[in-house]
Amino acid sequence: MALIVQKYGGTSVGNPERIKNVARRVAASRAQGDQVVVVVSAMSGVTDHLIKLAKEITPLPSEREMDMLLATGEQQTIALTAIALHQLDIAATSLTGAQAGIVTDGVHTKAKIQNITPKKVHALLDAGNVVIVAGFQGETSEGHITTLGRGGSDLTAIALAAALKADLCQIYTDVDGVYTTDPRLVPNARKLTEISYDEMLELAGAGAKVMQSRSVEFAKKFGVVFEVRSSLNDNPGTIVKEETKSMEGVVIRGVALDKNQAKVTLVAVPDRPGVAARIFRALDEAAINVDMIVQNISHGTPTTDLSFTLDKPDLPKARKVIDALKIEVGYGEALVSEQVGKLSIVGVGMRSHSGVAAKMFETLAREGVNIEMISTSEIKISVVVDLAKGEQAMKAVHKAFIG
Ligand code: ADP
Ligand code: ASP
Ligand code: MG
Repeated sequence: MALIVQKYGGTSVGNPERIKNVARRVAASRAQGDQVVVVVSAMSGVTDHLIKLAKEITPLPSEREMDMLLATGEQQTIALTAIALHQLDIAATSLTGAQAGIVTDGVHTKAKIQNITPKKVHALLDAGNVVIVAGFQGETSEGHITTLGRGGSDLTAIALAAALKADLCQIYTDVDGVYTTDPRLVPNARKLTEISYDEMLELAGAGAKVMQSRSVEFAKKFGVVFEVRSSLNDNPGTIVKEETKSMEGVVIRGVALDKNQAKVTLVAVPDRPGVAARIFRALDEAAINVDMIVQNISHGTPTTDLSFTLDKPDLPKARKVIDALKIEVGYGEALVSEQVGKLSIVGVGMRSHSGVAAKMFETLAREGVNIEMISTSEIKISVVVDLAKGEQAMKAVHKAFIG
C-alpha cells in the first residue's frame, strides 16, 4: 500500500464536473489500495476575484485580512471535493491548512512553512479516509490564518509529501507536464520527460507558472521527487528530480516569459556607500522581493541611476516605500514601468557550453528587440524587454535554441 499526495490546481477543480472528475481519479487510486491525500486549489478565478473585491475597497488592504479572505477560496474546494467523493461511497474528510498542522511564520500573503505536524492527517488516513487538505494556507503559532504566496498549493502538496514521507507526489494541472516553454503561447513547445530541480527552480522563478518556485525549492531541499501531469488524461507527465549526468547534454532546457514584472528606476541617486543598502533594506522590510538590479555607472557626477524589477502586484507597496525614502535618500525622481517582460533561458548544460548569451542576444537583435536589463546565473540568462515584444522575442529565442 502506497501513500500518494495528489494536488489538483484551479482549472482541474474549476467547476462541479471537474471536481467530480477529480473524485473519480482519486477513487481509482483508492481502488488500487493506496492511501491518498488530496491537496486542492481554489476553483480557477476565485482567488483573483477575491483580490479584486478587496482592491475595490482600497489599493492597499491589510495583509492579514487578505489572508483571511483568500483562504476561503480553497476552503470551498476541499468541502466540494469531499462531497464528490462521498457520492462515490468513498470515506473522505476535508481539512484546512491549520487543521492539517501546517504552521507558518507571520509574513502575511507570503508566509513560509515553519513546520508540519500532520497528526490529524495520519489519524484520518489510518481510519480509512481520503484526506483533502486546503492548499495555499497555514496558520501562525499564534493562530492567525496565513497564505503561502500565489500558486502556493504546489508548496502545500510538496511540503505535505515530505512531512508524510509519501511514496509519490503528483501535481495535476491543465497541461500534460512541464514543457520547453508555455505550450499555450508557443504551440511547438515540447513536453519534457524529466527536468532537474535547479532548472525547474530557475524556470519557475523566471515566470513559468506551471510550478510555484518556492515549492520547487522545498522539493529540492527535502529530496521530494514529483511528477507534473494532466488531470484531464492519463498521459505520463514530467518527473522533477535531482540532476543526472545525462541532463548536461542539453544546453537549453526551457524558455520562460514573465509578464508579471514591473521596473522601477530611481534617477539621480546620491553615489555614496550605504544608499543602495538603505533602499533595499526598506523594500525587504515591506516583504517586497526584488529581482534584477542594475546601477548605471556615474561618469564623474555624484549621482547614479538605479533600476530594479519586482512583482507587479507589489508595486503599490513599493511606491509607498520609495516615496517615503525620497527625502532621506535624496534621489531625483522615481520612474515606474509596468510595460516590461522578463525573458529567460535555462539549462544546466549552459555550464559546459559557451556562446549561449551571444546567440540569445543576436536572436533578439534580429527581431529588433531592445534589451533593457540583463542578469545571469550559472544556468540562466534573463533579459528585460518591452512587454509588447515579449511573446515575439520568446518565440524567436525558443526557435533558435529548441526548434
Ligand atoms: P494550476 O492551476 O494547475 O496550478 P497553473 O495555471 O498555475 O495551473 O499552471 C499551469 C499553466 O502554466 C499552464 O496552463 C501553462 O499555460 C503555464 N505554463 C507556463 N510555462 C509552462 C511550461 N514551461 N510548461 C508547462 N506549462 C507552462
Ligand atoms: N489559489 C491560489 C492562487 O490562485 C493558490 C494556488 O492556486 O495554488 O494563487
Ligand atoms: Mg499553479
